[in-house]
Amino acid sequence: MGEHLGFACTCGKLRGEITDVTPAAYTNIVCHCADCRSAYTHFGLADPEKVGILQTTQDRVKITQGGEHLRVFRLSGKGALRWYAKCCDTPLFFTPTKARAVHVGINTDRLDQPERVGKPVVEGFKPVPGGGHKHIGAGRMVARMATRIAAKNLNGEWRNSPFFDDEGAPTATPKVLTREQRAAALQGIRV
Ligand SMILES: [Zn+2]
Ligand SMILES: [Zn+2]
Repeated sequence: MGEHLGFACTCGKLRGEITDVTPAAYTNIVCHCADCRSAYTHFGLADPEKVGILQTTQDRVKITQGGEHLRVFRLSGKGALRWYAKCCDTPLFFTPTKARAVHVGINTDRLDQPERVGKPVVEGFKPVPGGGHKHIGAGRMVARMATRIAAKNLNGEWRNSPFFDDEGAPTATPKVLTREQRAAALQGIRV
């Protein structure tokens, strides 16, 4: 049994915890990509430049208060699900569109004690001098993710998710940003 980590939206109405956090159960990453950053700028928030993400499985996320504020949008029709707290427009989680993928990314800026998850071991889309980007440690990240997905599908734990019901449908209806909204979100990003 691992520790529990608390999280909350900015205004504090939506709260929860990541349960049973052992080092094997999560991967701490930072992502510099435009999609992760525009999940912030879409709400008029400052460009975070990089987003700290704790990757684990959805069954570990328990929303203990204010679950009615949980909403979701997609940056495009092909985009992943970007979950946020409607009460204060705080970006919170990232999930794939399919329940059985079981993967979730939790924005570490919303953890009560972000220092408890240690230093990021993976950097995605890190800008390199002269343009372009590279990934650091991504092979390890993908391997760990694949192991968790296989395990949770085998034991049926993909069902214990606050993001999908037992039929695999998202618990809130995903809103797809219009072309204009998407452009506005990207405009907030400093390159
Ligand atoms: Zn809130
Ligand atoms: Zn990203």
